[in-house]
Amino acid sequence: MTDLHCAEFVEMVTAFLDGALDPAAERRFVDHLALCDGCDAYLHQIRATVQTLGDLPPGDLPPETRATLLEAFRKLG
Ligand SMILES: [Zn+2]
Repeated sequence: MTDLHCAEFVEMVTAFLDGALDPAAERRFVDHLALCDGCDAYLHQIRATVQTLGDLPPGDLPPETRATLLEAFRKLG
C-alpha cells in the first residue's frame, strides 16, 4: 500500500499544478484526490486562489499565501 498522506498531497499541489510531477507521483496524487474530500476541496481552493492572484504560476505562490491555505486545509481536515 503506497497510500499518499494528506500532508504529502499538500506538498505536491504546486508541482501538480505546474505539471512537474513524474507520472508515478501524479498517479498517487490523483488517486488520493479521488479518495479524499478534504484534499479535493483544498485543490479547488488553491486553484481559486491562483486565479484570484492573476496569472502567477502556482509554483510562485507566495509563502504567506501557501501558509494561509495550509491553515484553511487543517480546518477542513
Ligand atoms: Zn487527503
